[in-house]
Amino acid sequence: MIITPIERVTPHYRGRFAPSPTGPLHAGSLVAALASFLDARHHQGSWALRIDDIDPLRQVDGSVEHITFALQKHGLEWDGPVTYQSLESDRFEHALYQLSQAGCLFRCRCTRATLSIHGTCGQDCASREVTTYEPHSLRVRFDTAQTYEFDDRFLGPQLLESRAVPRDFIVKRRDGLYAYQLAAAVGDAQPQFNSIVRGADLLDSTYRQRWLQQVLGLEPPHYAHVTLVNNALGNKLSKQTGAAALEVDFAAQNLRSALSHLKQTPPPESATTVMDILEHSTEHWSLPVGN
Ligand code: GLU
Repeated sequence: MIITPIERVTPHYRGRFAPSPTGPLHAGSLVAALASFLDARHHQGSWALRIDDIDPLRQVDGSVEHITFALQKHGLEWDGPVTYQSLESDRFEHALYQLSQAGCLFRCRCTRATLSIHGTCGQDCASREVTTYEPHSLRVRFDTAQTYEFDDRFLGPQLLESRAVPRDFIVKRRDGLYAYQLAAAVGDAQPQFNSIVRGADLLDSTYRQRWLQQVLGLEPPHYAHVTLVNNALGNKLSKQTGAAALEVDFAAQNLRSALSHLKQTPPPESATTVMDILEHSTEHWSLPVGN
């Protein structure tokens, strides 16, 4: 088993689930929610719900209500009030100021047509003076000479090869919206949260977020990634790939499927309610190496 005993991780576990309100909760997001919930509860920690509503253009009406309702129906009760990233713009602006003070922020006027194939700036905007009047995004220069590594609590040591390191990435978009990397780096730092459990599709983002936290003088949380559910075509089950909303009337069954995906000991047949299932799985929570 690779789960690091929490006493060695942190004295009081503070975790979270952070869905984007871009659609209803589906089987893939249930796996991420359940893994972070069980890991937190197994370690007698707190588990918060943060809505990552930084992109109103992708937001789907009614999804916050659906997500909160579905979580409750599956017994995944969070601690404290639901928080919203759309209310955190002061913190994000302050972080942008700090990045600019640290000398790693630049204005980029690239459009889709001028970006590099990797999505990085394709016009060397960092060495030109792009004025505030020109439409621009804000990007950070990522130090490609550095090695990026961290210990994933579930996957073990992670190392980003230098050839895979992008030169730069967006922290504030051309349309004025804050980028996910910035919002997550600021929102996930200690002391607010000290243990992040989420889908392995975000592994690449973790390097960027940890780097941002380092530049911003924030203490990074411990990260742990779980393998997500793929659809029949092998693509990650997600709102973008049209994953179906969870049927809340089959909550116990949905939890059993998510637990089986997470390779957990199945709760006994006698566990018929969501509470029985969650109680059993909180107690027996452990992930196989590489999950
Ligand atoms: N809000 C992001 C999403 O729903 C993920 C957040 C995270 O766990 O970092 O994909």
